[in-house]
Amino acid sequence: MDGAHTPRPLPMGPPAAARSAAPNGWHPLEFAGLQPMRQRRGIDVSWTIANTTAGPGYFLTGDAASIVDPLSSHGILKAVMSGMNAAHHSAAVLRRGVSPEAAANSYHDWLARWFIEDHSRLGELYRVANTLA
Ligand SMILES: Cc1cc2nc3c(=O)[nH]c(=O)nc-3n(C[C@H](O)[C@H](O)[C@H](O)COP(=O)(O)OP(=O)(O)OC[C@H]3O[C@@H](n4cnc5c(N)ncnc54)[C@H](O)[C@@H]3O)c2cc1C
Repeated sequence: MDGAHTPRPLPMGPPAAARSAAPNGWHPLEFAGLQPMRQRRGIDVSWTIANTTAGPGYFLTGDAASIVDPLSSHGILKAVMSGMNAAHHSAAVLRRGVSPEAAANSYHDWLARWFIEDHSRLGELYRVANTLA
């Protein structure tokens, strides 16, 4: 078995220990006496897409445009690809005379199709997981 699969102890520096305290207050004995370094924060990963992800003069990219929960495991890919596609559509407006509205609609359709696909696949995954639980 190589090192990547061998369980290792958590790093014991105060930042890692203080960040990993469980919500119900339980923590390993080794963490006793450590205080949280800052207030706990959260992130909203409700599956959602902006009604309008682009318009004349702007494109929303990444999580600002659409988000599904981390289980999809390709939020970074979506952030990069939506940035690339926004640049592609911007160039179409600036260099090829495509109307800003047409570019915005094309971009939104592309993003919405991706979101709907993710929504459908993740929904199915959770349905299966719930039947196993
Ligand atoms: C727990 C968790 C696990 C995840 N795991 C994965 C994974 O394994 N693989 C994967 O592909 N994706 C994963 N994701 C999703 C991925 O992290 C995001 O989809 C991705 O980072 C989105 O990139 P972004 O650039 O759109 O937004 P962000 O990465 O959120 O970047 C936005 C930036 O803007 C800054 N900002 C916000 N407001 C302002 C402001 N007013 N002024 C200036 N700056 C501002 C923020 O501080 C932040 O740095 C995970 C997400 C979570 C929450």
